[in-house]
Amino acid sequence: MITEAKLKSNLENNVINLRYHARGGQGGVTASNLCVDAFYGDGDCNRKFVAAHMGSPTESYVRLSLNDDLVRNNEQVYAPHAVAVLDPSLLGEIDVTAGMAPGGWLIVNSTLDQVSLQTTVGRKDINIVTIDALNIAMEVLGKNITNTIILGALLRVVPIFTLDALADAIMKRFKGEIAGKNVAAIKRAYEESCIYESSEAPVIDFNADSKVPWQQVALGLPGYKELDKAGVWYRDEDVIKIGSGQVNTGSWGEWDIVWSGQKADGGLCTDCAQCWHICPDFAIIREKGDDGLWHMTGIDNFHCKACQNCIDVCPVNAISKKLKQGPAACAAPE
Ligand code: SF4
Ligand code: SF4
Repeated sequence: MITEAKLKSNLENNVINLRYHARGGQGGVTASNLCVDAFYGDGDCNRKFVAAHMGSPTESYVRLSLNDDLVRNNEQVYAPHAVAVLDPSLLGEIDVTAGMAPGGWLIVNSTLDQVSLQTTVGRKDINIVTIDALNIAMEVLGKNITNTIILGALLRVVPIFTLDALADAIMKRFKGEIAGKNVAAIKRAYEESCIYESSEAPVIDFNADSKVPWQQVALGLPGYKELDKAGVWYRDEDVIKIGSGQVNTGSWGEWDIVWSGQKADGGLCTDCAQCWHICPDFAIIREKGDDGLWHMTGIDNFHCKACQNCIDVCPVNAISKKLKQGPAACAAPE
């Protein structure tokens, strides 16, 4: 089991990736958001719905780190360190351990034992935590909602927050009696979860490279050798750690995005900041001026992936595009 001190030291320069499997209506996304709320560093949460109706399988993803520069991307989590399964019926339907790092933790709402679960998911190189979340939910909450309960079990093995911090996050997100019942439920889950460490599971390596060779390398794109499982191309031939300083999302598009400059300098920009709000890559650069106010100063072309959102929103046409010179970095896959 990883200690809180060890995890904190790892998270100074790494990310812990979590994935939640639930069904529509079970609150998997709320569980993910609670993780971010209760975490002691920086976090990011996003989701995927296969179909938008009750009972359909859902996934949600959480990235947590003490280095906020490492939690900028919004892709799905393909290589989770821990996976929480809120509904045991998903075990037969979804490959819940797909991409999971050896030594990772699978936290399941289930009463099955270790061997049964290892057989079900076909993995012996991961550790397992079970919690009879349904029973706790029915006894404490009076209905089958297990999203907070699974977090109590998760916390036993992955100390990304304290029980008190999780309780605080719940009290802020829920109201009155419901909040109190959920806090009682997570405390029970923390006490009653069963931990099964596998003798075949290595110590999890947060530095492990999560990239897989990209099948389209044969296309011969200039300098692009690998695709991260999260969908990130790398410029260099060397395997490098994930970090926004290395992730050249600016290579994705075929356009260079050009800013005209501030009105005071002969450009068109009136500093309305609409482009800054809409940019998905934090690629609009703003700096504090001598007047104490924030002003747009340019575009971070290393991270700008040319989505053109800023061009669409700019009310004064201060941003334009021009075709990149040379071969397009982001060729269409065959
Ligand atoms: S085109 Fe504009 S909005 Fe899109 S990533 Fe680049 S700077 Fe951001
Ligand atoms: S939206 Fe246009 S005017 Fe507003 S800050 Fe961006 S570039 Fe300047």
